[in-house]
Amino acid sequence: MAATQAVFGYSNFDAESKIEEKFLTVPDARLAGQELKTLTAEPHLAATPGDRRTVDYVAQKFRAAGLETEIVPYRVLLNQPKVVRVEAHDAAGKLLMSGPTPEHVDNDPYQDDPNVVMPFNSSSASGDVNGEVIYANYGRLEDFNELAAQHIDLHGKIVICRYGMNFRGVKVYIAEQRGAAGVLIYSDPQDDGYYKGDPYPIGPWRPETGVQRGSVQYLFKYPGDPETPGVASTPDLPDSARVSPDGNQPHIVSIPISYHDAAPILEALKGPSVPQGWQGALPFRYHLGPGGVTVHLVSQQDYQRRTIWDVIGKIPGSEYPNDWVVVGNHRDAWVYGAVDPSSGTAAMLEAVHGVGALLREGWRPKRTIVFCSWDAEEEGLIGSTEWVEQHAAEMNHAVAYFNVDVAVSGPDFSASAVPSLKQFIRDLTRDVPSPAGGTVFEQWRVYHANDETHRAVGAASLDLNQVHVGDLGSGSDYTPFLQHAGVPSTDIGSDGSYGVYHSTFDDFAWYTQNADPHFEYLQEMARVLGLEAVRMADTDVLPYDYVAYAREISGYLEAAKTKARETGLNSLDFTPAETAAARLTEAAQRIHALEASPSGDLARLNGTLRETETALLTESGLPNRPWYRHTIYAPGEYTGYAAVVIPGVNEAIDAKDAARAAQQLAVLAQALDRAAQTLDQFNR
Ligand SMILES: [Zn+2]
Repeated sequence: MAATQAVFGYSNFDAESKIEEKFLTVPDARLAGQELKTLTAEPHLAATPGDRRTVDYVAQKFRAAGLETEIVPYRVLLNQPKVVRVEAHDAAGKLLMSGPTPEHVDNDPYQDDPNVVMPFNSSSASGDVNGEVIYANYGRLEDFNELAAQHIDLHGKIVICRYGMNFRGVKVYIAEQRGAAGVLIYSDPQDDGYYKGDPYPIGPWRPETGVQRGSVQYLFKYPGDPETPGVASTPDLPDSARVSPDGNQPHIVSIPISYHDAAPILEALKGPSVPQGWQGALPFRYHLGPGGVTVHLVSQQDYQRRTIWDVIGKIPGSEYPNDWVVVGNHRDAWVYGAVDPSSGTAAMLEAVHGVGALLREGWRPKRTIVFCSWDAEEEGLIGSTEWVEQHAAEMNHAVAYFNVDVAVSGPDFSASAVPSLKQFIRDLTRDVPSPAGGTVFEQWRVYHANDETHRAVGAASLDLNQVHVGDLGSGSDYTPFLQHAGVPSTDIGSDGSYGVYHSTFDDFAWYTQNADPHFEYLQEMARVLGLEAVRMADTDVLPYDYVAYAREISGYLEAAKTKARETGLNSLDFTPAETAAARLTEAAQRIHALEASPSGDLARLNGTLRETETALLTESGLPNRPWYRHTIYAPGEYTGYAAVVIPGVNEAIDAKDAARAAQQLAVLAQALDRAAQTLDQFNR
């Protein structure tokens, strides 16, 4: 990189440029591969002995790099499966299937370990139920509404739906609301199996017996320990401080199955033929039910308060020790988790390796860097949520949270971020080499340009200096940071064909065959992640772009207004929110000029910039889910993973609730006014 380069947030980048160049030479592909192999040597489900061994390994790596390291335990409610059984009979009483069938392919060296946990849904209820079957496609709100339109009653029925399109907890949430007695969730080959390409072990896609485990917690209500919303589950927390998990978990049984086990049920199912978009890739016509088949579900879940462990490694800042730059990745896996999350852990360990090399040469970051290895993310973002709740005071001036989860499943870089950090992540990828040649930014742009040609005939042509950075919904550990505590966050990954998500086959053999045989993309991700931390920790002025933020918010308001009109909510007054957004835009433009040529009281400028994100939180939280406090971003109640923007307003419009929409527009206008005022206090 050129020594004369100008970087937003730095008055002079020369010294930092040398530090970053040094950092980039350290993360090592071969070492990352060794780390990945060690981390994935055995199953490491949260709160198990295998998990504990990864705790000690990661802690040892943190200490070796010179980080102040501690192992932080929490005591949280978790279920582990004792019995999971599914049987199906036809109308004549003949047995059609009995499962779950063990996950198995030819020649996978890892699949037969006795510690591979049987497929189950974390947060499922225990139960023993019989019922007729109804097929509900992806289990989206519109799918359930279609069944209702066809007068198909779900009371006492077993809903079978396929994975994809939304968070699995949402499928169970709606099924329970509609009166279902149980839910089967299966992986249709159309979505991540042979319809996409060759299944493992020939290719990367889901084999016949592969099952996607996963949590069905109602994380769109709140994530973390179901018994302690807003409070940290420290080991000394008295039981009297815990609440019922009732509002956070389904009350019905749900069981994940393979298409091997789903096929005999779906094939026997009678009733109306499915709407065309509901047909999957199994070789027969699908029907909605009921009729032709009944299923029997047995689920015995062992619920206990179990101990989980975060590993936290700190490097104290030299100038602003109270301003934390937090970097995190979860460590727990459903089974081996080579991609999810161990590729992220290996990348983080090599980022730590790089930062350790800088420390040995005498470098100290201006701000404190905190590396975090989270536990029990898979069950509901638990390790990160409890830690954020424990450090609520520190979070008020944490300047960034940089997440990585599924770091590498292939070569295609992607990122999501709060709008103020979208340009930061684009700029930074211009300084990291790609294994495919050129920089990460250049490969990212090429990939997106191709992507665009495939999907959008006649769409506006791409700006070649821009690449799309997504919005943060949920499904990983940035959720408590951004949506509860208001810490500006990013999430990065390198994606490819990945059909073994949450199955036993997400192992080292699959990884080296399909994702990244030479671990070069682990090295790439280590460099990007580490550079995020180093650059943010040393910056003169926090490089938040509130002009971009205000522009996005104005766009969200415009879209919501159109939707309100289409929904028939014509009397909703958007003017106060639009006026506040315009005021934020003007304040952002003034502060942006100051950021571009930093001088004067930088500590005060940085404080102002950081407080502006906090100003977007609302103390009372979102309607019916007070834990979620961010007025601009939340996971959707009916999407779970995908972000809903200006959620209070949009979800009220979706529910056709004019009074609530008006009230939420007022809450939003106040938040935007607070943010504008915060910036203007400095401008003045
Ligand atoms: Zn993960």
